[in-house]
Amino acid sequence: MNGHASNNLEFYNSREDRQEMDLALLGGEPIVPPKRITPWPATQAEHLDALREVVDSGRYHRVNHPIVADLEQNLETWAGKWRVRAVGSGTAAIHIELDYFKDRGEHVVTAALNWPGAVGPIAISGLQPVFVDVDMNLVGIDQEAAADKFGPGVGAVLITHLFGNNIRVPHARSAARARGAAVIDDVCQSIGAIKAIVNGAYIDTDALALSGNGAKHLGAGELGFVITEDKDLIEHVDAVSLTSSSRNGDRAFSPCSAGYNYRPNVFSSSIAKMRLGNLETQLQVRRDNGKILWEMIRDLPGLFPLFDPSDCDQSMLNFPLRIEPEAFGFGSGPAARDTVVKMLQAEGAPVLVWLRKPVFEYLPNIADDWKAADFPNTVKLLNTMFYVSEIAPPNEAEVMELYAEAFHRVWKALFKFGPKISGITTTI
Ligand SMILES: *Cc1c(COP(=O)(O)O)cnc(C)c1O
Repeated sequence: MNGHASNNLEFYNSREDRQEMDLALLGGEPIVPPKRITPWPATQAEHLDALREVVDSGRYHRVNHPIVADLEQNLETWAGKWRVRAVGSGTAAIHIELDYFKDRGEHVVTAALNWPGAVGPIAISGLQPVFVDVDMNLVGIDQEAAADKFGPGVGAVLITHLFGNNIRVPHARSAARARGAAVIDDVCQSIGAIKAIVNGAYIDTDALALSGNGAKHLGAGELGFVITEDKDLIEHVDAVSLTSSSRNGDRAFSPCSAGYNYRPNVFSSSIAKMRLGNLETQLQVRRDNGKILWEMIRDLPGLFPLFDPSDCDQSMLNFPLRIEPEAFGFGSGPAARDTVVKMLQAEGAPVLVWLRKPVFEYLPNIADDWKAADFPNTVKLLNTMFYVSEIAPPNEAEVMELYAEAFHRVWKALFKFGPKISGITTTI
């Protein structure tokens, strides 16, 4: 045990207590042994075969590389409805889509709890974001609040799906349609949302943006996709994103190129193509792991899911949770969550705090125009949410059991000592 910490432990000095709790943060053995977890992107020797295929092709770039064309085709087949264009990143896909719809109006309605990379392209396109709050269950855009904002000047609504959640929000979609605003879905974290997920139907959208970056389901390095039924948007991808090569193989300089050169990386495309073959299995293991873990921790007081446990179609990129600090006698700020996360991490559980601020506070050009206090759910979630990463294969049920055990040990300590526990943990 750390000697410095023990000075603060008058209330925690009986031998029985220590044995009972054995918190790793206080010197006990961590529950999850180091190396027991395989971190995403779960590298495998076979990925080298995908890279070798590119080398053997003798060409390391070109948008019309057969590997890229195959990947686009395979993703279209997997989704079953849309047309697909590979581009350089998920951010590029969002930019291209916003650029395409920008003539409809200069305002874009989106959620205040959001990934900066999803919102940055609004400004890149010369548009202005209009923020609304999120719901407390799925961390998706509050659809009534969004619908209230639609009107003259609103060209699009950008619906971000976080953590693998499906943000269906049918009312927001129909309200946007009625007011002539484009619907754009950022499904960078929710690849399953490009399939039919609304009682067998597809979500009602004009365009979806997907990321293939190393942290996402396709775990492919740097890659993104524009996904749509709109043929003109598919054409627009090349206009915005290619400078010196075209899809038909010409070495043409596009007269309307903005010069972004958002070409897909062929090496990443080859990895993504390989992973797509196992995507269905990957998603099923993620969902199963999420289900197993939730069953084992759902009775812990003060703990709530930030996903829908009954949604069999969600993509479970990470396993998002929030706590009610008051359940442990804490105030409403981030202290309780930060304490819980620190204790779980000490147990070896792969838990992380992702965002801590509303999205506008990450974007210097617009930070001063918006106030966190106007978005109460966003603030509450940012103070209380965290997620368990590493729920993808090859991690299996036994690993989920270790995570759950870590939660149970931490919860026991929390209930025994309440806020006093952070007195111990902050001095270590
Ligand atoms: C990853 C991500 C993006 C950006 O994708 P990149 O490929 O990294 O550019 C956009 N939105 C969300 C929600 C993301 O998670």
